[in-house]
Amino acid sequence: MGFDHVKTNLEKTLERISLAAERVGRSPDEVVLVAVSKTFPFEAVEAAAAAGQRIFGENRVQELAAKVETATEKFEWHLIGHLQSNKAGKAVRLADMIHSVDSSKLAARIATAARDLGIVSKILLEVNVSGEKSKFGLSSSDVKSVAEAIMAEESLELRGLMTMAPFGASELESRQIFSTLRGMRDVLETALGVALPELSMGMSSDFEPAILEGATLVRIGTAIFGDRN
Ligand SMILES: *Cc1c(COP(=O)(O)O)cnc(C)c1O
Repeated sequence: MGFDHVKTNLEKTLERISLAAERVGRSPDEVVLVAVSKTFPFEAVEAAAAAGQRIFGENRVQELAAKVETATEKFEWHLIGHLQSNKAGKAVRLADMIHSVDSSKLAARIATAARDLGIVSKILLEVNVSGEKSKFGLSSSDVKSVAEAIMAEESLELRGLMTMAPFGASELESRQIFSTLRGMRDVLETALGVALPELSMGMSSDFEPAILEGATLVRIGTAIFGDRN
């Protein structure tokens, strides 16, 4: 499989990100692209890196580990997929940010691992805004208590919230989900008295509505690397 298409796709994606940001008067550099390289070989990462991309997302710890080991340059790696508590230690060592914290148990495991390593782990809380049964993420009603538990951990830095719109949602439905997440973040900032600057929302099919609603991190795979098998 060749990856000659990656450079053009990346440029087109960055252009679409800029246009969406400008539509709502935001600066394009307020929106950071996480290129989701999951399931693709390391050559895909190299192709994107050659075109200037430095931030990559993976959804499994095992695959993240393999790519981090292969990399000869320093990239920024984000873990975006569901994380089991027993893999928290490995995730903390490998990932610059974990987007998918969805329980206080997992947060506590990440905190312990980070403390043992003498680092502060940057995390996001994943919220199941739509309430779909098949989705990971905290229910909206649990977010505040888990956030409070995280605030008490010196080895954790809560940076914001993450969500996914339901598969096949219309643009309007997606925008409602994203705007709800932003509202939740605003309420949480006031309640906890801390800044929660990051909103990780938007994938290939819905990153434009996400940016219109305030996304600061967009997680895009297919639009850059092509279809996954
Ligand atoms: C795979 C994945 C993405 C990227 O999805 P695309 O539709 O390929 O852009 C984003 N976020 C999460 C959590 C994912 O697992």
